[in-house]
Amino acid sequence: MWRAILRIKKDHIRKNVESLYKYSGKPLIAVVKADAYGIGAIPISLLLQDMEEISAFAVACVEEGIELRKAGIKKKILVLGGVLKGEEKAFIEYKLTPVVSHMEHLKALENIPIPIQVKYDTGMGRLGFLEEVIEDERIEGVLSHLSTPLDENFSRLQIDSFKEIVKMYKGLKYIHMESSAGVIYRVPFASHIRVGLALYGEKPFQDYPVELKPAIEIRAKIISVKNLPTGFPISYSKSYITEKPTKVGVVAFGYADGLMKSLSNKAYLYYKGEPVKILGNITMDMTMIDLTGKEAQVGDWVGIVGENQSFTFLAKIAGTIPYELMTNLSSRIKREVV
Ligand SMILES: *Cc1c(COP(=O)(O)O)cnc(C)c1O
Repeated sequence: MWRAILRIKKDHIRKNVESLYKYSGKPLIAVVKADAYGIGAIPISLLLQDMEEISAFAVACVEEGIELRKAGIKKKILVLGGVLKGEEKAFIEYKLTPVVSHMEHLKALENIPIPIQVKYDTGMGRLGFLEEVIEDERIEGVLSHLSTPLDENFSRLQIDSFKEIVKMYKGLKYIHMESSAGVIYRVPFASHIRVGLALYGEKPFQDYPVELKPAIEIRAKIISVKNLPTGFPISYSKSYITEKPTKVGVVAFGYADGLMKSLSNKAYLYYKGEPVKILGNITMDMTMIDLTGKEAQVGDWVGIVGENQSFTFLAKIAGTIPYELMTNLSSRIKREVV
């Protein structure tokens, strides 16, 4: 029945976890914020939670944590965005672990007897204390975040500053700063890695040393096929005019589904494993493709992301990063775990 389906390949996600674990030698905190980067936080977390290599999950805000608890997630859930006044009760009720990065967060947690982790800003310029040491018996972990993992010199400075901070604490169970790209530093004094993108099979850069399997496939149905003569305009603003008689397919997937408009006239979708060009402007719910020479019919599937092209590849054409493309995926795409 569904016109657009996102398939989560369970085995591939699990392989990626194993590869990251082997490479880093550390258990994972799986980052599933923003609905697991648009893929679906509940199905992703459910398929990860029985893996030994997964120690905890990380989300951005308390509401995301509650959603996972309600779905039956039992492992630790870190809330990266901290805790504001009025939220503290939910942390107790749903057994969430706040990442404290400001004195106001600590104030909100006064007399709240739960484990906390403390974030340090070693060069990200976003969340975290600079170097003040927090004395609090509830602290079970400290973390920091690399801003530019591909800049080795700067990353080493961040790692060194974090090392000095870690020395000030005793008895920590969690010490972490490596994201997907950051795992290449194999930070020796860290206890965990904190990864999102790589779990889903997207390499943070070419020559990434961890072997990853593409784990997400998106396809959508063709809802119209017709032959148009030479000189016929396609889609809003007539940005494409046929140069020859053209068999034009309409795919039930548009920018509202996550296929960014900046891919218009630039990117390709895949029909039976072969590239078919996007013609004209991508519209809210539909995208036109060139099916000239293909036996395509209404009801056939077209591949958008998968073996043939990654989110990272499409994002590059769109002039953005895979994170943005992925978090644009709509909830109206059916999620399926296979
Ligand atoms: C999103 C996020 C991560 C995960 O980054 P990836 O590049 O997806 O691995 C790790 N740590 C923090 C603080 C984050 O916000």
